[in-house]
Amino acid sequence: MKQHNPREIALRQFSRAAEIMELEDWIKNILSYPERTVKVHIPVKMDSGEVQVFVGYRCQYNAALGPYKGGIRYSPDVDEDEVVALAQWMTFKCALVDVPFGGAKGGVKVDPKKLSRAELERLTRRFTYEIVPVIGPSIDIPAPDVYTNDEIMSWIMDTYSIIKGYNEPAVVTGKPTYIGGSKGRKEATGRGVAISTREVLKLYGEDIKGKTIAIQGFGNVAVFAGLILQDMGAKIVAVSDSKGGIYSPEGLDIRDVVKHVYGDEEVNGKKKSVISYPGGKQISNEELLLLDVDVLIPSAIENQITEENADKIRARYIVEGANGPTTFEADEILFKRGIVVVPDILANSGGVIVSYLEWVQDRMGYYWEEEEVNEKLEKKLVKAINEVFHTLNLYREKGKEIDWRTAAYILSIERIAKVYRKRGLFP
Ligand code: GLU
Repeated sequence: MKQHNPREIALRQFSRAAEIMELEDWIKNILSYPERTVKVHIPVKMDSGEVQVFVGYRCQYNAALGPYKGGIRYSPDVDEDEVVALAQWMTFKCALVDVPFGGAKGGVKVDPKKLSRAELERLTRRFTYEIVPVIGPSIDIPAPDVYTNDEIMSWIMDTYSIIKGYNEPAVVTGKPTYIGGSKGRKEATGRGVAISTREVLKLYGEDIKGKTIAIQGFGNVAVFAGLILQDMGAKIVAVSDSKGGIYSPEGLDIRDVVKHVYGDEEVNGKKKSVISYPGGKQISNEELLLLDVDVLIPSAIENQITEENADKIRARYIVEGANGPTTFEADEILFKRGIVVVPDILANSGGVIVSYLEWVQDRMGYYWEEEEVNEKLEKKLVKAINEVFHTLNLYREKGKEIDWRTAAYILSIERIAKVYRKRGLFP
């Protein structure tokens, strides 16, 4: 498969929207670059006694709307371009759903599956130590992302708090509820994906009930999206992980698959691959993407839908649970084919919406019940979905056919641009 550079894709998406909306050059220039990218080398004493040095990044893309916000991922694919692209997407995601945050992303180039729990903890604590000068509740607030979870967030919170000399839960989101986390945060990204799917279908006059859905992935996003969509009456016919997927045209019982894979519903440390689940036919990840379903939900990693498979996709809707699963060229092919792509910065924004609610709760020291959190999440997300649809129609009336991603970008760029116009440029 051809290599696709996420930074280049993110910039092309941004430029396309900036051009259509006729964004001022000075703001376009500013938003084309990250404000700061910190690169650190993280020495870790391995269980064997040997010291290994890992490379880590924290990219702070833009803070016009508030403190930088975004997850930290642990993956062998992490590099500077990926982190910068992901931080750019966070910037537009936060603006789009109207939370008072800028955008950031962090990552460590490591295969966490090859590390023991103790090694992972030492790596996390040392990485936190290296970025302490640039993070904080009013500066930059990390969160979970690919292969990081609430335990890792707890180590970040603990390390930061020990260095500062007081408990500071608001420095990171996605923590367990008993360490200052928010009820509903764990499910939030998946819940947002499910709500986005239901609402976008509704806007096109369709009902979620009975719709067939293939989900690529079986991590935090995919699992909760699957469970909640199933509860909404949809039929999840396929899921997958890095080893491959399972397919059942009658629909999988996602709760049962979760039990098989995770052993419980905690969805933290994965115990088995989905391919060992007895109730489905084994398929490859590539086959999953090409299934004849109503909705395809890529919820794993970047660059899954490319110019090589975009013309073979049979789903009518693609809802991006992952960040950056569709390349720029693929987007154009899908658009021409009339396939609706609900972009990552909208579809998976449930996570950062509830991260915002977690940060608010931490700062006021008062915690809401889950219903209240879910209600606030749904309200913000549905509003953003309708605003994007409205933008889409506005441009259509002006004779410009744009896709959902471009409409979402235009809306969020406008929010940031408005702030620049008023705040001006220092000095
Ligand atoms: N990593 C998630 C994302 O890509 C969540 C970020 C956050 O909550 O800050 O949106």
